[in-house]
Amino acid sequence: MAIKRIFGYEILDSRGNPTTASLVELEDGTQARAYVPSGASTGAHEAVELRDGDANRYQGQGVLQAVHNINTEIATALIGKDNSQQRELDNLLIELDNTPNKARLGANAILAVSLALARATAISQQKELYQYIRELYGDIATDKVFPQIGFNVLNGGKHADSGLDIQEYMIMPQKDSVSENIRIASEIYHTLKKILAKQGQVTAVGDEGGFAPHLDNNEEGLKLLVQAITEAGYIPGTDCSIALDAAATEFFSSDTNVYTLDKQQYTGAQLSEIYHHWMQQYPIISLEDPFSEDDYASWQAFRQTINPEIRLVGDDLLVTNTQRIQEAIDNQLCNSVLIKPNQIGTLTEVIDAIRLAHQNQFTTMISHRSGDTTDTFISDLAVASRSAYMKSGAPARAERVSKYNRLLEISY
Ligand code: PGA
Ligand code: ZN
Repeated sequence: MAIKRIFGYEILDSRGNPTTASLVELEDGTQARAYVPSGASTGAHEAVELRDGDANRYQGQGVLQAVHNINTEIATALIGKDNSQQRELDNLLIELDNTPNKARLGANAILAVSLALARATAISQQKELYQYIRELYGDIATDKVFPQIGFNVLNGGKHADSGLDIQEYMIMPQKDSVSENIRIASEIYHTLKKILAKQGQVTAVGDEGGFAPHLDNNEEGLKLLVQAITEAGYIPGTDCSIALDAAATEFFSSDTNVYTLDKQQYTGAQLSEIYHHWMQQYPIISLEDPFSEDDYASWQAFRQTINPEIRLVGDDLLVTNTQRIQEAIDNQLCNSVLIKPNQIGTLTEVIDAIRLAHQNQFTTMISHRSGDTTDTFISDLAVASRSAYMKSGAPARAERVSKYNRLLEISY
């Protein structure tokens, strides 16, 4: 079976910004599409998202160059090739780009094709996508394993104008069944909305569908989560825990080496104390990017002081990049890896990143981006790779719930 046609095109993401999409058609007539998401608090070490910079279109955010690259060089290189050779084809795309960070063709061009190709092949082989990805992963077992989900119900940082420095306050229900966890998250989300309304707070939402109230300080967000979990009828820490993504690169100054939280300045060591205080007071089981992407010293010191059961997750720190993950393993910087396919650019590299993490007892959390689409690839990826965690925003808004609905679909 060979690839017959590849077509790239421009669509909008959930923030109303352009993003790339692609269609892959196989000789047997199978067609599949993939849409690429886009971040706001992007890591400096991520693969390059190619933007046109043409001020006359979408304020410079257009992706026509990336689309052009799909329709010319990428299509020419792949058409006629055996679609089932995902690794070979992804490697071919990496070689074609020939830069260390996909800066020439654009990771947004390459990923759209890499994912659509996998989806087309799965359909053509009459397999569920998660089953096909699991085979690519080298695992032929057919059991379904579902991740624990972090639902982002309070949005801060670059995702809202709430004034919260911490970017994501997530609730993480602790039941065994994925449908029960999704139900619990939805109930707590709606309880939280009622609490906010009663307090006279705005109940408008941020980029990931979580609420964006103007709270007095960051710790208030944690108190609110505990209140919402309790008022919804659940026991904090038993039925439902808390996960945070500080996205601390965004409130770190590399000039002065300080973090600014609640308008106060802290060294990495002082910030660690605040996190420890929070972990004592609130049922936090996962902490993502508590320090800046290049502040290795703080990461390393912090990991030595935390309970190893707590997930210390590297996102901007690791950018789904096996070299950076290996460095984190060697230097014991964290114990969990956030996985965002568009940070690296091909499905094969994503699979390799997950495998490296798991082989070294690091857990993985499969993730959406703040600018996302209704594409549900990451849900299949989470089940396929047996990832322990996943996050896709609030249990609300179509681009977020599409992923949760896909998990439900797989579970039935
Ligand atoms: P981003 O945020 O998609 O804006 O980078 C998500 C995250 O930091 O985890
Ligand atoms: Zn993050």
